[in-house]
Amino acid sequence: TRNCFAISTVGDANIDNVCGIENLENCSHFDIENSNILTNEVKRSLESYVPCSDDDDNNCKCYIEVITNDLKPYQKGITQQMLNNTAKYGTRYKILNHQLFRDKECMFPARCSGIEHFLLNLLPELPDMDMVVNTRDWPQVLIGLGSRIGPIFSFSKTSDYLDIMYPAWTFWAGGPAISLHPTGIGRWDLQRDSISKAAIKTPWSEKLPLAFFRGSRTSDERDALVLLSRRKPDLVDAKYTKNQAWKSPKDTLNAEPAKEVLLEDHCRYKYLFNFRGVAASFRFKHLFLCNSLVFHVGEEWKEFFYFALKPWVHYVPLKSYPSEKEIENILNFFLEHDDLAREISERGSQFILNHLRMQDIECYWKSLLLSYQKLITFKVESETELVQISPLQRQEL
Ligand code: UDP
Repeated sequence: TRNCFAISTVGDANIDNVCGIENLENCSHFDIENSNILTNEVKRSLESYVPCSDDDDNNCKCYIEVITNDLKPYQKGITQQMLNNTAKYGTRYKILNHQLFRDKECMFPARCSGIEHFLLNLLPELPDMDMVVNTRDWPQVLIGLGSRIGPIFSFSKTSDYLDIMYPAWTFWAGGPAISLHPTGIGRWDLQRDSISKAAIKTPWSEKLPLAFFRGSRTSDERDALVLLSRRKPDLVDAKYTKNQAWKSPKDTLNAEPAKEVLLEDHCRYKYLFNFRGVAASFRFKHLFLCNSLVFHVGEEWKEFFYFALKPWVHYVPLKSYPSEKEIENILNFFLEHDDLAREISERGSQFILNHLRMQDIECYWKSLLLSYQKLITFKVESETELVQISPLQRQEL
């Protein structure tokens, strides 16, 4: 028999003498050697990890490279024509004389409000500029169309897109509305406090040694975990919940939808799973606050802060569409390597607490807009069809 290593992970863990995904059926157990490969993967990742800044980083240094990369395609300058080209893919915003203007209509008013919270606070520091902000989940500028279309801001993308990432509206408002948060999950500042408090209530040693997931079937990549949970409820508790598109149990993989669970209550479990949804899932950042071990499936979909989080250092990476067997094996590995799991969970949680603070979101918005503005080649003029957004209007939304 071959010396099998049944986990196919993102990173370099699949090295010599190791079964890949194609051999999974023959890879029914972990042996010491396979465990060592994973342990070494963590060790190597830690050795090469260079912290992006000190803990009281006041200049959001950890994320500046993302801004540089996203703006690279527009280094030759941003013309009025380029913005006219993208206008129909998003909502137009203009900053003029430290006032904020916008298209009259916004496709998702609560999302615009979540964006405007940050823009309004920054107005005294922002020079004149013109921009198009996409409030849909999906990015808009596929590579290859870039020079034809022009710059647009989106909250999430893959490397196939040239959209410029901005901190999602949900850091303040307009996040997903679930029964427990009927007006949407927002206010990252409050969520940070509340989930961190829940984490303190369940220290590592008291967490249930189970993998946990609640969410809707926005991507079938989540199916394997849900199916594994049905087979092995003593290892995984993963169920599909309803979302607005739910029509029948078919949409929850032939089961009745489960009740939604507060993010605070996720902290009772040792292993928490994150998957992409339509685009990146807002869940990711919250999971770290629990001080549980975060398993992140797939690495394609990003938000601006994902790049600073490192696989094996802050979370456990799993390749896209992991099989039930792969999930089972990696869970068994961490059940047997509890100290390693706790250490990764602590580093992940510390990173989010120290570097994804409200001040980091504000800092990112500011650095992004100041760098973007430098690329604008035309004089920004007032336009009668745009309406002024004032702090008062923001509260009314
Ligand atoms: N959510 C939650 N409890 C649940 C189900 C969902 O807190 O029981 C949150 C989840 O963390 C995410 C949001 O609701 O931030 C939307 O989840 P869903 O799975 O519907 O969509 P996606 O992850 O694709 O954005």
